Amino acid sequence: MYNFLKRTLKTLFPNISNKFEFTIRRVLSLFYFGNKVYCGVCESNFKRFILLDNAELSCPKCGSLSRQRRMWKFINETIPFKKSDFILHFSPSKILQKKFKKIYPNYVSTDYCGNLKTDKSYDILNIDVADNSFDIIICYHVLEHIIDDMKAMSELNRALKPGGKLIVQTPFKEGGIYEDYSITTKEDRLKHFGQDDHVRIYSVQGLKERLEKVSFNVEVFSFKEAVDNKFGFKPEEHIILCTK
Ligand SMILES: [Zn+2]
Repeated sequence: MYNFLKRTLKTLFPNISNKFEFTIRRVLSLFYFGNKVYCGVCESNFKRFILLDNAELSCPKCGSLSRQRRMWKFINETIPFKKSDFILHFSPSKILQKKFKKIYPNYVSTDYCGNLKTDKSYDILNIDVADNSFDIIICYHVLEHIIDDMKAMSELNRALKPGGKLIVQTPFKEGGIYEDYSITTKEDRLKHFGQDDHVRIYSVQGLKERLEKVSFNVEVFSFKEAVDNKFGFKPEEHIILCTK
């Protein structure tokens, strides 16, 4: 129903869904009234999550996906930030950006593509900040878009303070990293890498090794859940935590 509503509104009013997305979602969430599932980001219960075309489970009210619910839980339970932390967040979801901004006065959001409303539009290959600027950098579902990913990782390392933390996630596969730079069309990238603007699929071990090559200490957190878990988490997820 959400997809239908969003498509219809987008056709009638091209900009309305972004501007009023939170309002639309609040109304929409009434249709999902129930107590079977729980979104930890907006702290609300529903009868179910919205199943999107790409098989992701979206929260009816806040729009969070599994990876965002997982990140929120991970941060709060595993590495709670200090209020004074300087935080840089690449390509944040709207809901998490909103939540972080409310809590952390030194939070900076950034998106290079211009698809999101963010504070900055830093190029991850040349982040326009001084060395040792941030306590925390969040880089979720970004590196798989970047051809020179090692340069991006070096930049992330440079921008962090000594002892600072980088939180990374991407789509993963078993085995080794799959990349082939001769694959350049949208159609081929979709077929090979699962999305038309991705340039590789990492393996957990492969990404860990690349991050270690740019001098990070790397820890991998792996999560397994029942397929029908009430929090709408994917059955298997990994978060990589790097320390400078
Ligand atoms: Zn939610």
